[in-house]
Amino acid sequence: MLLVLPVGIMAQEPFVVVLDAGHGGHDPGTIGNKAKEKDINLGVVLKLGEMIEKNLSDVKVVYTRKGDYFKTLQERCDIANDAKGSLFISVHVNSVDRKNRRRSTIHGAATYTLGLHRSADNLAVAKRENAVMMLEDDYSERYCGFDPNSTESYIIFELNQNKHLDQSIEFAGKVQKELRTTASRADNGVRQAGFWVLAKTGMPAVLVELDFICNPASEAFMASESGRRKLATAIYNAVDDYKRAYDISTGKKVPEKKVSSKKQRRQETGAEEAPSVESATGGSPSVVSPGSASSVRTYRVQFMTSPRKVPKGSSKFRGIDEYVEYHEGSMWKYSSTDLADMRSARRRLAELRKKFPDAFIITIVDGQRVN
Ligand SMILES: [Zn+2]
Repeated sequence: MLLVLPVGIMAQEPFVVVLDAGHGGHDPGTIGNKAKEKDINLGVVLKLGEMIEKNLSDVKVVYTRKGDYFKTLQERCDIANDAKGSLFISVHVNSVDRKNRRRSTIHGAATYTLGLHRSADNLAVAKRENAVMMLEDDYSERYCGFDPNSTESYIIFELNQNKHLDQSIEFAGKVQKELRTTASRADNGVRQAGFWVLAKTGMPAVLVELDFICNPASEAFMASESGRRKLATAIYNAVDDYKRAYDISTGKKVPEKKVSSKKQRRQETGAEEAPSVESATGGSPSVVSPGSASSVRTYRVQFMTSPRKVPKGSSKFRGIDEYVEYHEGSMWKYSSTDLADMRSARRRLAELRKKFPDAFIITIVDGQRVN
C-alpha cells in the first residue's frame, strides 16, 4: 500500500549545525602576544554551541572538535558530511605577517564562502588556513595533489560547482551584519576564496575570520570572556535568523522568536554593550570595540572631554584616524584606540599633545579604566 503523508506530518530531518573550531593540538593557528588562535576558536565555538542547544531546541549541534586536539581538514569535512549537516561554520582568527606595516592596526571581521579569490589578501588567508594540511605526512596524496602554497592549485575552486553557494552567501551576510552590530567588529565584508573545508562539505558552508590577532586591541577582545561571548552571540543570532528563513522556505511552522530584540538577546546570552570606536573620517569600517581581558592590559591616550557629544567629522578630530568615544558621568570622553604597551602609549601621547596639550595616558584592564 502506498502511503501519502501531507507535508506537515512528514518526519522532518533535523537541522544540523556543524561547528568547526579551526586548528587545535600541535597546530596553534595564528599567534598573538599571548593568545593562540586555536583557543579563541574553541572558546567561541563552545559558547555558540551552548547557546544554540539552549535556545533552538530543534537544532542539533555537531562539533568537529570539543577540546584541544588536532583534526585534519579532511576529517573535519568527513564529520560534517557524516552528520548530514545543514550548515557548516568554521571559526578562525586572522593575522598578517610581521613585515606588514598595518600589522598592529589592521582589524575587523570577514566571512568567507567558497569561490575564486578576487584579491591577493583573500588568497593569502586561504593559503594560510589550507596550509594546515601540510602538517600531515602524506598530504599530497590525501588531498589529491592539491598544493596549498601554489596559486595555480586554486583554480579548482572556480571549477567547483557549488550548489549551496547562494545559501552560503546569504548566511555569511547575516554573520557579518551581526559581527558588526552585536560584537562591534569592523565589517570587512563577505568574501570568497578557496578553502578546503568549504569545498569538501556538501552543505551551505562559511569560514569566519573573527578579527586580527596581530592587533593588540583585537587580540585582547578575543582573549576575553566577554569578547568571546559577544562573538558567539553574534554568530548565534545569524544562525537563528537563517534557520527561521529556512523553516519558512520549507513550509515549517515557525515558532515565535524566543529572543526578539537585541536587548533581550543580550540578556539571554549574557552579552553586554561595548563602547565604540569611531572612525573620525567617517570612511569605511567605523565601529570596533576596544579589547578587554583579565590577563591583557592595554593603554589609551585620553585627549578630550566634553559635556556634549562631539559629532563625528568635527574639525576637533582632524588628523586622528580612529578614536574611542564613551560616556562617563555627565561627560563624553575621547581617547586613542588601545595600545599594547606603555612605549607605544608614550609615543601616541607625544603626537596627541601637539594638538591636545592636556592629553594623558589611561590604563585599561578587563575593559575598564583603572587609573
Ligand atoms: Zn585559522
